[in-house]
Amino acid sequence: MSEKKTFEIARETLKQLTARKLAPTPVNYKAIYNEIAGIPSVEHFPAQELRSIAVSLQAKTPGQQRQKGLLESAIDRMNWDGVCSAFVAYAGFSGGAEAAGSAVTYATNMPSSMDPGLPMGPEFLSQMGRLIEYAQPALGTDDERFSEQGRQLVKALKEPAFNMVEVKQLLVSYSHRLSFAAEDQSEIKKGLLKLLQLVFENIGELSMDDHWLKGQMDSLKAASTFPLTLRRLDDVGSLLKDVISKQKDAKQKTLEAQDEMRQMLAAFIDRLSQISQSTGSFHEKLEDSARQIENAKSLAEIAPVLKEVVGATRNIARDTMSARDELQTMRTQATSTQLQIAKLHQELDRVSAQARHDPLTGALNRKGLEEALEREMSTFRRKEMPLSVALLDIDNFKSLNDSLGHVIGDSALSHLAQVARECMRPQDTLARYGGEEFVILLPDTVMDMGIEAMTRLQRELTKRFFMAGTEKVLITFSAGVAQVAETEPGMDAIRRADQAMYLAKRSGKNRVIGS
Ligand code: GH3
Ligand code: MG
Ligand code: MG
Repeated sequence: MSEKKTFEIARETLKQLTARKLAPTPVNYKAIYNEIAGIPSVEHFPAQELRSIAVSLQAKTPGQQRQKGLLESAIDRMNWDGVCSAFVAYAGFSGGAEAAGSAVTYATNMPSSMDPGLPMGPEFLSQMGRLIEYAQPALGTDDERFSEQGRQLVKALKEPAFNMVEVKQLLVSYSHRLSFAAEDQSEIKKGLLKLLQLVFENIGELSMDDHWLKGQMDSLKAASTFPLTLRRLDDVGSLLKDVISKQKDAKQKTLEAQDEMRQMLAAFIDRLSQISQSTGSFHEKLEDSARQIENAKSLAEIAPVLKEVVGATRNIARDTMSARDELQTMRTQATSTQLQIAKLHQELDRVSAQARHDPLTGALNRKGLEEALEREMSTFRRKEMPLSVALLDIDNFKSLNDSLGHVIGDSALSHLAQVARECMRPQDTLARYGGEEFVILLPDTVMDMGIEAMTRLQRELTKRFFMAGTEKVLITFSAGVAQVAETEPGMDAIRRADQAMYLAKRSGKNRVIGS
C-alpha cells in the first residue's frame, strides 16, 4: 500500500467516523479503516475489555505465565481462536494439577492432565474412549485402517498422561473416516433389504399356484420394508420358517405325484406296444391264412389253416382282455394317487395350521400370539416398561355373513386386519384370536393410551369403509383393554381384556372399555 493511499484511507476513515457519528475510539477507527481498505476485520473485537481481563489474571506458575502471554498476543492479533484456547488452557492450569507437580506432557497450549471435574478432564476423555470402543462394532470391520484408527484413538484417550496434539489429530482423522463408515453401513443395510425383497419376490413368483404361499410371501415383503426393527426381523424369521416348511412339503408332494405319473405312463406305453405288436402279427397271420385258403385245393388243406386262425384270434382276444385289465388297474391306481394327493393337501392344511400366521388375514395365529406374548412379557419384566393388551370382536359379524355371504365376510376380516396393521406402531403385534376376534399387544403403553389406540382404529374404520363389491359396509367392533399387572401372566391380562370387551358389547357395542 503506498504512503499516499494510506493517508487517503486515514482521511476517509476520519470523515466516516464523523459522518456515522461514532466515538473516535481506536477500535472504531480500526474497523472503519479496515472496511475502507478492504482488509477483513474482526467486527467488534473487544480488545480493550479482553486486555483488562488479561491484566487481572494471575501468573503464579510457568503454565499460567505461558498461557497469559499467549492470550495477550492473541488479543494483539485479534485472533479469537487463540484467545479461546489460551483461556481454556489457563483454566486447566488453575485446577492446581501443575502446581501439585503431577506428570504433565503437553506439546501445545493444552495441558494433558486436568482436574477430573473439568469438562475435558481425564475421566471425560476415557469415557469418550469407551464410547468409541462400544460404537466400533456397529461400524463394521471391513475397513481395517478405520478399525486400527479406532484402536489407536481409544488407547490414546485412555492413556493417563496423554498428548493433546496427538489425540486431536487422531480424532480429526477418525471422525473423517467415521463419516464414510457410517454411510457405508447405512448403504449396506439398505442394499441387504433390497436383496431380501428381491429374494421374496422371486419365491413369491415361483409359488403362484399356491394361494397360501402367495399370501405368506406378500406378508414377508411387507414385513421387510425399511426401516427395519429387531421385532420385524423376528417376524420375517418366523414367517420364513413357515414358508420353508410349506415349500418343502409342496416339493415332496409334486415329486411323488410326478413319479407316479411317470410310472403309469411307462406301463401304458408298454401295453400299447404289446397290443399293436400282437394285432400286427394277427394281421399277418390272417393274410397268410387267406393266401393258404385261396391256394387250397381240398377242405383237408383248409382245416389246419382255420385252426390256426381260430388260435390267433383267441390269442388276440386274450391279449386285449389282459390289456383291458391292466388299464383298469392303472385307472384304480390313478384314483388312489388322486386320493393320496388330496390327503397330502389335508396334511398341508394341518401344517399351515401349525404355522404362526393366519393365512386369511396375515395376522399371527394363536401359536404366533403365544410366542409373541412370551417375548413381550420377558421385555416387560426386564425393562419394567408398561405393556397393554387389547381384544376386539367385530360387531354383528354373523349378520354380515348372513346378508353378504361367507366369502365377503372373509374379505371383511382381511380388511380389518389391514387397517389395524396400518394404524398400529411397528412395535405393536396383531393376532387373530378367534373367528372375528383379534388381540393387539401394545408394548410401552399404559391402559389409557391403549384405549386411545383402539379408539383411533375405530375412527380409521369409519373413514376406510369396507367395500363389498360396490356397496360400502361400515365395520365396527367392541374392544377391551388391559394393562398387564406386575406379576400377572400375559394370558390372564388377555382374559381381563376379553371380559372388558364383553362389557363393551353389553353396554351397546362399538365402544372400548378398559379393564
Ligand atoms: P356380536 O356383535 O355380539 O359379536 O355378534 P356377532 O354376530 O359378531 O357374534 P357371534 O360370535 O355370534 O358370531 C361370530 C360369527 O363370525 C359367527 C361365524 O359365522 C363368523 N365367523 C367366524 N370365523 C369366520 C371366518 O373365518 N370367516 C367368516 N366369514 N365368518 C366367520
Ligand atoms: Mg365373537
Ligand atoms: Mg362378534
